[in-house]
Amino acid sequence: MAVRRLDGGLSLIDLNFQGRPGVIGAYLLEDAGEHALVEIGPGSTLDALLNGLEEAGVAPEDISKILVTHIHLDHAGAAGSFIRRFPQAQLYVHENGAPHMVNPEKLLASATRIYGDMMGPLWGEFLPVPEENVHVISDEETITVGNRTLTEYYTPGHAWHHVVYHDAEREQVFTGDAAAVRLQGYGYVRPPTPPPDLDLEAWGESIERIRHLQPASLNLTHFGPFTDVDRHLQEASGRLLAWADVIRPAVEIGQDRPAIVDNLTLRGDAEILQESRDAGAILGYELATPYGMTVDGYLRYFRKRSQASA
Ligand SMILES: [Zn+2]
Repeated sequence: MAVRRLDGGLSLIDLNFQGRPGVIGAYLLEDAGEHALVEIGPGSTLDALLNGLEEAGVAPEDISKILVTHIHLDHAGAAGSFIRRFPQAQLYVHENGAPHMVNPEKLLASATRIYGDMMGPLWGEFLPVPEENVHVISDEETITVGNRTLTEYYTPGHAWHHVVYHDAEREQVFTGDAAAVRLQGYGYVRPPTPPPDLDLEAWGESIERIRHLQPASLNLTHFGPFTDVDRHLQEASGRLLAWADVIRPAVEIGQDRPAIVDNLTLRGDAEILQESRDAGAILGYELATPYGMTVDGYLRYFRKRSQASA
């Protein structure tokens, strides 16, 4: 079963990314006859999404809104393909990301620099979204799904186009990547830090912003709901800075990228094993947020910072 019912009006569709359950999800919201998605996943898992909707008994023609937390391929990549087939759906996206959903050339070029030949196999098709299907959201805007109200909060740090969605009544936050990555059944929280936008200060403030909402549940895209909110957020912000403290001195002594990636891999995998006692967890975390990308994000961040202070 790819669909997990979380409560009356909320299900989690497992997109079974690269054949592995529990790595990328999309949330299906249903209230008073209206249906919406929070996240839609990459183009490569569009069929899994459609199968999940069918399993949940919802026709894709009945999805009126697609809310994405940010425009990275694993969260928003399938939006254009979905909307081409089901043009009633409106895409909700932050103003910094919206232009790239309409004209994705730069976004795809940037992703190709990271993924190279793996772009197609990993992420599939990314079609532009027609401008008339794009709803640009601004900070603290409210969005309704039936009688349910979600408030959007701008949460940069992972990306400059990142938002979270807060359901105050149900005390839930859909965190995208702002609360980092954690797989079901594990306590380990791993920060996804891709180039080019990583900003540690902004991310720390975004995590505080989520904490102030005092949610009972963090609904992660990678993957699923977690209720030990304070501990989780503490570990997210703590590891974000701890890894900076590992990578910064390596850069300063002139270590090359492969050595830095190797060191972080050793350290990170040891942390996962210590926490989970399960080597199987290592691959899942790596699929959700690979070390190479993590290191590239920090390297670019440090470079930008040193250029700014020079
Ligand atoms: Zn992600």
